[in-house]
Amino acid sequence: MASARTKQRTGREIHCSSCESEQVIVISKWRYIIMTAIWPLLITLAIGVLFHLLFLLFIPALIWMNIMVAKRKAPLVICRACRHTSVVSASG
Ligand SMILES: [Zn+2]
Repeated sequence: MASARTKQRTGREIHCSSCESEQVIVISKWRYIIMTAIWPLLITLAIGVLFHLLFLLFIPALIWMNIMVAKRKAPLVICRACRHTSVVSASG
């Protein structure tokens, strides 16, 4: 039998689901959106400026799409020890 952990954790500490390491990087939903949306956004912006401003109409759709994706994939937890990425399952 494994010795019981006496360390009491009151806070909701996030740890890696793979190796249980606590050295994790947490990427919040908004950070995730910014991270994933920034390049497509800049490219769309550049295309819009260079070719036709009509392309700028894609930007709200692009942002909306990224928010939809982020809702499912974020907050994201990246483990520094084993590089395992996991999604924090938020109930509700
Ligand atoms: Zn890990």
